[in-house]
Amino acid sequence: MKTIGLIGGMSWESTATYYRLINQGIKAELGGLHSAKIVMVSVDFAEIEALQTCGDWSKASELLIQAAISLQSAGADFFLICTNTMHKMADQIQSLVCIPLLHIADATADRLLEHGMTRVGLLGTAFTMEQAFYKSRLSDVHGLNVMTPDQWSREVVHRVIYDELCLNHISDASRRQYLGIINNLSEQGAQAIVLGCTEISMLIRPSDTAVRLYDTTDIHAQAAVRLALNSSV
Ligand code: GLU
Repeated sequence: MKTIGLIGGMSWESTATYYRLINQGIKAELGGLHSAKIVMVSVDFAEIEALQTCGDWSKASELLIQAAISLQSAGADFFLICTNTMHKMADQIQSLVCIPLLHIADATADRLLEHGMTRVGLLGTAFTMEQAFYKSRLSDVHGLNVMTPDQWSREVVHRVIYDELCLNHISDASRRQYLGIINNLSEQGAQAIVLGCTEISMLIRPSDTAVRLYDTTDIHAQAAVRLALNSSV
């Protein structure tokens, strides 16, 4: 079994989900007392959020590069950045370490295409919904047609992530707002919705809506399990 490296803490609530899902996945495959081999660097999300807000992406990048180098030194065979947003600096980080990054958008696109999904709605932070690093990866690299909500809805989705979900505040009112936004995207032609933020599944479950949901946390964790057990990597 390969050793999985995790850059976590963004937020720690969703990193805890990653830890559980990866261990459950390894146990499901190998049985008994098996659990995942994991090394993790968990950052202080308050520092990261402050850098995001003031646009100091190069300092944020430095912090994640240090984290990736630590994972490599600690023996990780490959690594995950346990957030969609911070894949903004994925290429820079990958260029400075030898171990491969398992990219969350690639894992998600692979799953969508396996299921025949070509036109999807994307929910996430404003960075993820509005900037090219994520949407272009899905569209230009994987050929997906990506729809995002209108500006007011994007602001709602973004605010709920930082002010509620990253603090583990789960609100029925926010759930209703998210479900309205998901329905609108579906009515506009989205075949499925990508939960492109690792905390959204704390708020929205598949049973809340008839629209198909693709939870990036779950997909990313399952891809890590497969890679950890794949001797060719
Ligand atoms: N976990 C979130 C994501 O998947 C947001 C937190 C962050 O800004 O990294 O994008």
